[in-house]
Amino acid sequence: MIVMKFGGTSVGTAESIRQVREVVLSKLGEQPVVVVSAVSGVTNLLVEHVQTGRDVKQELLQKHREVIDELWQTPPEELLQYLAETTEQTLARAAELEGAEKSDTIVSLGEQLSSKIVGSFIAEQHPARQCVATELFVTNDAFGAAEIIDEPSRHNVRALKNEVRKENFVPVVTGFIAATKDGRTTTLGRGGSDYSAALLGYYLGADEVQIWTDVDGMFTADPRNNGEARLIPEITYEEASELAAFGAKVLHPKTMRPAVHGGIPIRIANTFRPDAPTTRIVAETFRQHEVIAVATKTSVVMVNIYAAEMLLMKGFLARISSVFSEANISIDIVSASEASVSVTLDNHEQLEAALTKLREFSEVSVNENVGVVSLIGQSIARSPALLGMVSKELADMGVELEMVSVGAAGINISVVLASGDVSGVAKRLHSLCIGGEK
Ligand code: ADP
Ligand code: ASP
Ligand code: MG
Repeated sequence: MIVMKFGGTSVGTAESIRQVREVVLSKLGEQPVVVVSAVSGVTNLLVEHVQTGRDVKQELLQKHREVIDELWQTPPEELLQYLAETTEQTLARAAELEGAEKSDTIVSLGEQLSSKIVGSFIAEQHPARQCVATELFVTNDAFGAAEIIDEPSRHNVRALKNEVRKENFVPVVTGFIAATKDGRTTTLGRGGSDYSAALLGYYLGADEVQIWTDVDGMFTADPRNNGEARLIPEITYEEASELAAFGAKVLHPKTMRPAVHGGIPIRIANTFRPDAPTTRIVAETFRQHEVIAVATKTSVVMVNIYAAEMLLMKGFLARISSVFSEANISIDIVSASEASVSVTLDNHEQLEAALTKLREFSEVSVNENVGVVSLIGQSIARSPALLGMVSKELADMGVELEMVSVGAAGINISVVLASGDVSGVAKRLHSLCIGGEK
């Protein structure tokens, strides 16, 4: 079996959905289980509704209706009914809820609708069925970024596997969404459909998880921003994880966890160029001391924490990290000295609450106009020559550094600098360490 996940742009238009069907039908011999994201732009629209209250129902219905009308001369009545009823029912259910739970119920609509459309369209040519993952993945109630509960999720996916084996159909599973054990809808975090695909791959014992997107694979830099970026044909789980965590949007950072546990290879491929070379993510490669990619985050928050008399005392770092973890904020980079601890974080709606807690026991300053450029590659941080070369380049550019971090696994060298310097520095370091066309 293989898992094939199609992202937002791959299900963004009627044309792209035709392409998705073609790619899926070409893999029938490998027993595909399909996972889809919401139609491109739909999750953002739903998030906007949550945040501003703007009524987006007509826009939402129209967007999907346009896709349907292009795919079918006479759309199946059942599909049109699903579109109208699911939208109505989901919004009505959300109206009874509050906070993050309400938000998850609303944003779950995108994947429910896209999976129904894609499932119905594939079913015109081969047996296929929509499968809503609230019936598959069981999570805790950390709405917005829920954590999977292993046993019941495994049980449900195994049941699906048996059904597929018996009845030989292609399931089209909603990415991104799940439910608590009492059936309340949760989500796995923005961009979480990649993670859904990896989870399915793990519980199914799949031969491969394929992430089909709008680029050929993982590149040495974001191909949208850097013309010199090249495809990386093979990369380790560890490198890919690091790249994802430090800004390469092509994969959700949690995707690698289940793949590593299950030893399942991940492939990233281009929906629109299915025969083009791809990236395969595997356990090991033989590269060492070689920068394989540059990742960037243009806007992060840097928090400096001073508490002179307590610093480096037992439990102080733990206290800081528990403040962030209670606010559901994950820390990217930490740097500690005798006099202060600095961390970088992605901006987060609960940041203010966390800062207030930190101020109860320390002095805190915040710098919001910073970004991160990270070099990634197996054991690069153990190469003094490389570190020297990078420092010299930054000095020549006259860049002021807020923080430098050498990842403990030796796989990541990150510099924190002014947001405005991120793009220029990333390009220069890419040219220096990786170069253009080889
Ligand atoms: P999907 O909708 O298929 O999930 P995403 O937009 O989430 O797709 O991810 C694909 C995008 O990731 C690409 O269009 C590309 O601009 C961006 N990206 C950022 N860094 C990288 C990288 N190192 N390699 C490939 N793509 C990258
Ligand atoms: N639709 C969700 C999002 O936009 C999940 C995904 O696309 O992976 O975040
Ligand atoms: Mg994505």
